[in-house]
Amino acid sequence: MSTLVKVTRRTKIIATIGPQSESESMLREMIVAGMDVARLNMSHGTIDDGLERLRRIRALSNELDRPVGILADLPGPKVRLGTVQDPRDLVEDALILLEPGEGPSRPDHFMVDYETLLTDVRVGDRLAIGDGSIVLEVSDVLDNALQARVLFGGNIQGRPGLHIPSDRLRISTPTPQDLKILDAFVEVGVDMIAVSFVRSAHDIRRVGLEPAPRGPLVVAKIETRAAVENLDGIISASGAVMVARGDLGAECSIEDLPHLQKDIIGRCIALGRPAITATQMLESMISAPSPTRAEASDVANAVFDGTSAVMLSGETAIGRDPAHVVATMARIAERADEQFDHDGWAHHIRRDRLSEPQGVDAAVTDVMTMATWRAAAEMGVKTIICISRSGFTVRAIARFRPAANILGFSPEERTVRQLTMSWGATPILIDKISDNSESVRKVLLMARELGHIRVGEVVAVLGGSSATVGSTDTLRMARCP
Ligand code: PGA
Ligand code: MN
Repeated sequence: MSTLVKVTRRTKIIATIGPQSESESMLREMIVAGMDVARLNMSHGTIDDGLERLRRIRALSNELDRPVGILADLPGPKVRLGTVQDPRDLVEDALILLEPGEGPSRPDHFMVDYETLLTDVRVGDRLAIGDGSIVLEVSDVLDNALQARVLFGGNIQGRPGLHIPSDRLRISTPTPQDLKILDAFVEVGVDMIAVSFVRSAHDIRRVGLEPAPRGPLVVAKIETRAAVENLDGIISASGAVMVARGDLGAECSIEDLPHLQKDIIGRCIALGRPAITATQMLESMISAPSPTRAEASDVANAVFDGTSAVMLSGETAIGRDPAHVVATMARIAERADEQFDHDGWAHHIRRDRLSEPQGVDAAVTDVMTMATWRAAAEMGVKTIICISRSGFTVRAIARFRPAANILGFSPEERTVRQLTMSWGATPILIDKISDNSESVRKVLLMARELGHIRVGEVVAVLGGSSATVGSTDTLRMARCP
């Protein structure tokens, strides 16, 4: 008897590509170590650099025969300081000036590339520099500059970002530059697009993409206070959500952050949208060979919160050993997956979903996926097969976090790559979806050949009987031929 492929890790890993990880050899190592999705952070580098990285990752994914999703992250209205020529320390209580305009900064007098700085920001506002370790409080608005006091000091160099509270920001997302980047990446068929500093569902609609899989899956980054307030609308308008803890942590009280993370993930998964937990997950590994104990717990706890994917930023973009960081994260996530309370989670989702009013298609999907989860749990079914054009059905069953493996069969290459971000799903490309019973037989044979199921084994097969996207209405309990 053949041995079955063992699917162990259920939580997906997203790694940001940067100067330390863009080489072909490092990318190959990272894919082998468990990178499911590569994130191209378009706050840095040119569009052409980004497109070149995309091509390189696509080629490696083909060569290794492993689907790797590509997520292009739009910078949004990111405000930066003019270049700080010599690295220097800002000390507590020092007074500095912030002047709107281009050009390099001078000691204690920084340029800010935000035109309406003097009218938008008010005395008493808190501004953060870089990753948020330096905090300023605006003490006066002068004729040509803001005067600010350093509350928490630190070292400053290069062109650090300046975090202005988002309810003060006049520029909205997506910016004209975002749309330019978007066009370039849509043209080459990018799988996912992340939108920064979203404040409402309207910001997502302004991105103006066709629904997945005809267009990329849109990931709303939750990193403003307004987004937290408009969360349900944003989730409904998006394909997935990122808990962008870097900026969110600067926008809200730090003690609220862990609870916001739980709440955002919970609401997102209940609606069948993948949730990503991002920023500083293994931060110390930028320079250290092993993570802090707190970081290891952070990754495991994100898994228990129900996150679909965990994300690496600087750790893989500029860190000393990107592939080793991916391998470390994979080990921690896999171990946490083993401890996951599948039943507890499913009951929780069931209670929340059933109490919500909704349309017929959503209600049918809820009932069918719930039935699938129950049947699988009660019969001890080890594999749930989904036949899905858009990936909708896969995401709908994945929200129950079944202990059974989920195989996501789709005829759309982009869907296959989008499913690399979905919890627990093994995406597999098929050539077409034909008549339902024929499709079922075909995927069962294919799953068997790939070593996922055995002859005689009972599996749950879930799909939509019609060509409509956004509804899952057929469940069969089938025996593997
Ligand atoms: P960024 O987004 O890395 O693009 O800022 C993530 C975050 O804010 O946490
Ligand atoms: Mn951010």
